[in-house]
Amino acid sequence: MKILIVDSFYTKESFAEEVFSFLSETDGIWEFELGEREDIEEPPPDTGVHSWSSIFERLANYRQANKIPEETFILFLTREANWQNWFGMFDIDGRPQGFVQTSFWNELVSSESLYPILYEVIAIPLHWRMFKDAEGLEGNVHMNPIGCINDFCQDKKDIILKLQTGNICSTCYQKMMDVGMTEQEFDHIDELLDRIRQQFRIFNINRNKRRPAPLSLRNSQFYIGENKLKLSPIQRALYLFFLQTDHRPRTDELRDYEKEIRESYGRFYSGGDLAEMNDIAGRIARNEDNLATQSVSRINSAISRLVISELAEHYKIVTDNEGRKSITAILENQ
Ligand SMILES: [Zn+2]
Repeated sequence: MKILIVDSFYTKESFAEEVFSFLSETDGIWEFELGEREDIEEPPPDTGVHSWSSIFERLANYRQANKIPEETFILFLTREANWQNWFGMFDIDGRPQGFVQTSFWNELVSSESLYPILYEVIAIPLHWRMFKDAEGLEGNVHMNPIGCINDFCQDKKDIILKLQTGNICSTCYQKMMDVGMTEQEFDHIDELLDRIRQQFRIFNINRNKRRPAPLSLRNSQFYIGENKLKLSPIQRALYLFFLQTDHRPRTDELRDYEKEIRESYGRFYSGGDLAEMNDIAGRIARNEDNLATQSVSRINSAISRLVISELAEHYKIVTDNEGRKSITAILENQ
């Protein structure tokens, strides 16, 4: 089965890339692919709750516009609120498509919500295979949770529980055989669910130990543990500069470090115009239009989205009483 993972139109920051790269690391018969972000020419205003049928229609339009083969399962990762705010659902009319919600995991930071989202990205196409439509669903999910992938979960915390068991009960296993699922598919799904469970466990162990994950720079991107810190080239340049300097400069002193900032920016600037690159580096150093101030604030909020609050300070660019800026974390590799 081919499963195309797509960021919905209302999703501003891609979740699909992260989900895809995790899943594609496990070899198996299910093929995950990364699709272009959904594009809507004349989007209706995002006034709150989207009906399931409107999401399913958008999926059908997406298939048509992008010429996706009929047998490919398309999965939207949605930021927008859906009717009843379910975490995910396959098309109740039986078409091979569905959605998983990436938002409203209020109690979780995004690095943690990755795991239940990954779990749902497996569960939704699997449910479609098993149940096909709304009728098939009836009477076939466990209303009382038993730690099976077919537990009906009303609470997002329940998903975390079934994620931790990573199990398919024998009744559901038999049902999957009955609808023609192969052993190769089971093996792949088992392996995926196992990996999600293990990675989630490692995440929690580190969290409980309050041990910060290593900060690294790979292929011009910063990573905290395995999670990419989503920063623009200017933000990356400034972050690297603060990581490399011991001088704890104030923002108004950055002009004394123009050379260092230019060198740092040179590592991330992808254009070919040297004059433009130097010009931008100069503007950062002089904090023109609050470029440096704003970048620092964006870097820090990107860190907050990725790291639990108890550990975020370790990675942030922190300003002391005298306005001096520094980072506690040390870059592991460059
Ligand atoms: Zn079951």
